[in-house]
Amino acid sequence: MEIVRTVAELRSWSRANHGIPGQTVGLVPTMGGLHAGHASLLRAARAACSHVAMSLFVNPTQFGPGEDYARYPRAFEADCALAEREGADVVFAPSVAEIYPDGAETLVDVGDLGRRLDGISRPGHFRGVATVVAKLLIAAEPDFAFFGQKDAAQVAVLRRMVVDLRIATEIVVCPIVRDADGLALSSRNAYLSTEQRGQALALSRVIRQVEGLVAKDERRGQVLLDAGRRVLVCVPGLRVDYIALVDWATLEPVETAFPGSLFAVAAWVGATRLIDNTILR
Ligand code: AMP
Repeated sequence: MEIVRTVAELRSWSRANHGIPGQTVGLVPTMGGLHAGHASLLRAARAACSHVAMSLFVNPTQFGPGEDYARYPRAFEADCALAEREGADVVFAPSVAEIYPDGAETLVDVGDLGRRLDGISRPGHFRGVATVVAKLLIAAEPDFAFFGQKDAAQVAVLRRMVVDLRIATEIVVCPIVRDADGLALSSRNAYLSTEQRGQALALSRVIRQVEGLVAKDERRGQVLLDAGRRVLVCVPGLRVDYIALVDWATLEPVETAFPGSLFAVAAWVGATRLIDNTILR
């Protein structure tokens, strides 16, 4: 497995590999601190593409002031080992200056879509995400890019972006990987104490509860939201950011759940912000 640090190297690796009949390039963008969720994206990429790159870059522009940019888990050696084990051909690990050249001014703003769900309590977050992913897609020119449903609002933003910018990459969305107890895997789970981990399980309980209600044909948004809220309010140490039933494409609230609607929840457990969701059937 090769490790490259510059956009020029990544681009020439990609150009050597795609455009050849039968050959495809896949990209798995990550911020490192890798876990089995990231591994599942790599496996999906490996299964679908003949050439696979993973990026490791903690993107400063998607963190707000006072958020965890400085202490975000960074484990370069372990991340490269996982990437190699899961079959990445190349790891792209650029410096901040490589991604944001001196004097950088250009940002990708996805409009109102970037100001819904997580975009409300994290203003500018999705602009940072769209900007860095646009840069990665321009650099790697992948046929496919792999993202987790775990960040479902991010998926909506990026799907919009590739259409709007006519980027020739297909976005592939992979299922949420969970621990045995149901907690969705996240690099930020490393921040949780044992007690907080127990509190964090309320998020996946909400998701299961709502899926159960929908399986019994309960489609009224208010009923689903109230049921979810009832699970969360009785958990000490947990503060709800949002609980929402939305159209997955527009992230606008819907009153009635329909197949493909997104039910999503975000909450702080202590200082750690966690998210979870389900796409309703
Ligand atoms: P991150 O490193 O947190 O930016 O995540 C990189 C990619 O991994 C994103 O597309 C995430 O949605 C995805 N991801 C993170 N956690 C999970 C998970 N538990 N299951 C599946 N994908 C995940």
